Amino acid sequence: MATEAYNPFENAQAQFDGVAETLGLESGIRELLRRPMKEIHFTIPVKMDDGTTKVFQAFRFKHNDARGPAKGGIRFHPHETADTVRALSMWMTWKCAVVDIPLGGGKGGVICDPHNLSLAEQERLCRGYARQLYHQLGPNLDVPAPDVMTNGQHMLWILDEYETISGGRFPGMITGKPVGMGGSLGRTEATGYGVIYILKDLLRQIGMDPANTTASFQGFGNVAEYAASMYSELGGKVIAVSCWNQKDGKAYTFKKAGGCNIAELVSLKDSFGSIDKDKAQGLGYELLPGDAWLSQDVDILVPAALENQITPAVFPSISKQVKIICEAANGPTTPDCDKLIQERNIILLPDFLCNAGGVTCSYFEQVQCNMNYFWDKKEVLEKLEYTMTKAFRAVYELSKEQNLYMRDAAYTIAIKRVANAVKLRGWV
Ligand code: GLU
Repeated sequence: MATEAYNPFENAQAQFDGVAETLGLESGIRELLRRPMKEIHFTIPVKMDDGTTKVFQAFRFKHNDARGPAKGGIRFHPHETADTVRALSMWMTWKCAVVDIPLGGGKGGVICDPHNLSLAEQERLCRGYARQLYHQLGPNLDVPAPDVMTNGQHMLWILDEYETISGGRFPGMITGKPVGMGGSLGRTEATGYGVIYILKDLLRQIGMDPANTTASFQGFGNVAEYAASMYSELGGKVIAVSCWNQKDGKAYTFKKAGGCNIAELVSLKDSFGSIDKDKAQGLGYELLPGDAWLSQDVDILVPAALENQITPAVFPSISKQVKIICEAANGPTTPDCDKLIQERNIILLPDFLCNAGGVTCSYFEQVQCNMNYFWDKKEVLEKLEYTMTKAFRAVYELSKEQNLYMRDAAYTIAIKRVANAVKLRGWV
């Protein structure tokens, strides 16, 4: 979350300010777009199983909804901060704009560790979140989704509380719901697959065969798992995966020089999502420190965990072989590292483009809910690949035409679209 040295909101603002300056955006628009338009800070009292009451601090921020209802996940994390949620709400605006879906940016969070809460306590927390925010949420207002440590069950509890209060059925008020309960096929895989659809197209553009590439992943949650498995299906070799170990309270890197078997690693995950280190070692995986994923001799690095992982301090340990950094997480690279990445001619696939597959599929989920007609998985994934590839091509072509770093090209497209919507509405 917001580490002492790096504040994600300051990072998000620094990225925006740089591009706003280049674009010559007028001051009113800059002021509007460099912070959330609305912030709700609230508390949720929850009756715990032991009869006591605990009060949780929660947030829901709307960065901008000029292009459509605010959209973005709700995170459960013990170190959640208002500034992290601010940054993430801002990145959601750019994410929806760069893939050109008619949604704005929002984000929510609760300071809590779901590992220490029973399912009944988590349900009461979700219902409390929906009760406190009832008037602020809705299919045409602000539409949450799963994020770090939240899942389809949490979304369904929030929906059920919302519908109980309103007395109707509004499946489009939240996405990432379980399939059969208004969820879309492909939503679970969408963020990870989206990362690889873009990587695949980049490799095509630069004339590299995925089957001749190697990669190292940070994280083995939902996004990394599906990204790594699709990358392996394309013939790419995953040399290393780093994963948080909940019991030890630290991360480890699992390495197999001949290539990790992703399905095998998935089968070694415990109930916290940590890879069992003894079993992995028994299967021939080398156990290395958590940060060893970064220093592997691979072609592609995929940070798919948290913010602020690639900094100037760790940059020198990145192998000279690395050609691509594929940002599957939100904000994994600090702005002061972008210059170093460019100097080394590493191609960067920026986070809000690279990981937009999740929200794109959330949009498809809303569309299907509105029609009350659900597509099969093939149709969802074809539409997802089309949307992601189209967005990538536009960013890639602009970066070539104007010799721009890909992050700046993605920002240019997204900021122009949002600024235009704000102007057309007459807000500035
Ligand atoms: N939490 C995901 C993200 O950061 C998905 C958001 C959504 O589906 O609304 O993109």
